Amino acid sequence: MPAAALSPEIMSKYEPVIGLEVHVQLLTATKAFCGCANRFGSAPNTNVCPVCLGLPGALPVLNARAVEFATLASLAINCEVRERSIFARKNYFYPDLPKGYQISQFDKPIAEHGWIDVPTADGSMKRIGITRLHMEEDAGKSLHDGFSDSATRTYLDLNRCGTPLIEIVSEPDIRTPLEAVEYLTRLKEILLYTAVSDCNMEEGSLRCDANVSVRLKDAPKFGTKVEVKNVNSFRFIRQAIEYEIERQVEVVESGGRVTQETRLWNAAEGRTYSMRSKEQAHDYRYFPEPDLPPLIVSAEFLLAAREKLPELPEARRTRMIAEYGVSPKDAQTLTASREFADRFEAAAHGARNPRGVANLLLNEVGGRLKALNLEQEQSPVSMAGIVMAADLLDEGKISSKQLKQLFDVCFEKGEDFSAVYEREKPEQITDASAIESLIDEVIAANPKQVEQYRAGKKTVAGFFVGQVMRASKGQANPALLNELVTKKLEG
Ligand SMILES: [Zn+2]
Repeated sequence: MPAAALSPEIMSKYEPVIGLEVHVQLLTATKAFCGCANRFGSAPNTNVCPVCLGLPGALPVLNARAVEFATLASLAINCEVRERSIFARKNYFYPDLPKGYQISQFDKPIAEHGWIDVPTADGSMKRIGITRLHMEEDAGKSLHDGFSDSATRTYLDLNRCGTPLIEIVSEPDIRTPLEAVEYLTRLKEILLYTAVSDCNMEEGSLRCDANVSVRLKDAPKFGTKVEVKNVNSFRFIRQAIEYEIERQVEVVESGGRVTQETRLWNAAEGRTYSMRSKEQAHDYRYFPEPDLPPLIVSAEFLLAAREKLPELPEARRTRMIAEYGVSPKDAQTLTASREFADRFEAAAHGARNPRGVANLLLNEVGGRLKALNLEQEQSPVSMAGIVMAADLLDEGKISSKQLKQLFDVCFEKGEDFSAVYEREKPEQITDASAIESLIDEVIAANPKQVEQYRAGKKTVAGFFVGQVMRASKGQANPALLNELVTKKLEG
């Protein structure tokens, strides 16, 4: 391990330069160029046909849905969509690629010149450029483990052959492992919002390769880059990049040169291994796919895609901060998934006070979930329950103290708010004279505060409201109480 050998002083002389290549499987019903089901987890070699197996004479037909999804994704990451893009054959031999080539795009990809903004360590936003987004098809899968004779045989599952992919290539704008993770987090979030992929990394729907190089901080040119492949979680991406930065700095510091090569991340050992050097690198001999015409994305098609584009996470957060008066961190929680954000907003818009719904969801329910280490989906209180509670509070039918008690019961018993409220129906004192006599007692007991109020410190009213509420065991009608306290103090 090179990690321990290098001091922070040495590391700080260098600047890492990182670019990411992300492969994303599209969530179409059928494959990119044939009618086979595009489904994960089917019995091996059952979703195959002459086209995706590349049998002689079979002809590909482009899936319009895949083009629609690629266009949506391109727009969502601010790319320019090319009107006329070209499919190309990427030729190489691999046992799980029976055709001997992948249909991809080469010099004329469907989209280029995009960007996404990612948060940096100091809280500001940084724009990471996106070089291109191109369409291609996936290869099959070699199964090296899990069979009794795996020591001597490799099995092939060709179900994945022809699965529609987009590959998103970033500019080398990323400077730290953390920025790389932020970029991936934002990219995944955007893709999930557009619903073009499930982005399930464990099932390989989202895969990432990292190009990493280091250079002295004032160096005019990039160092020699190494491609790290085979990294299947955000945590491993971060570790693999950290490892690679330290390894390369150590090579340079000891007077050596970084070799341009492809390396594989080994998660079990926490290090990368050389897979192939540049001398052995593939020459893919790209040429235009003769079986497919140029892909034309018409202005109409593009407009239709633009109209289908949902409000994207960053824009949604900005709006929510203004609309619900929440903090940026809370906005992040509310937009964790599009589905959750949609449910919250549908509920909030049906309530008397949408900001109140946000507050209860984040603080009362969110706080209890956090204390119990539960996820949002495990909450006993439904969104409808939160709306009901917010409305009752807003109408003054329950006090905030009663509300807290009711939520406590919900979490103790695992029941929704409506059930607990209907059963417990907290008593409320709405009789003005009863509240007035409580106020009189509190006023009599706190002459100093009365003086302060009458001297102009109006905020002291809150003190009296709190004292009377406590004296009423949380049962005084809050709206009435507020009104009467002011009246008494002014009188
Ligand atoms: Zn097929």
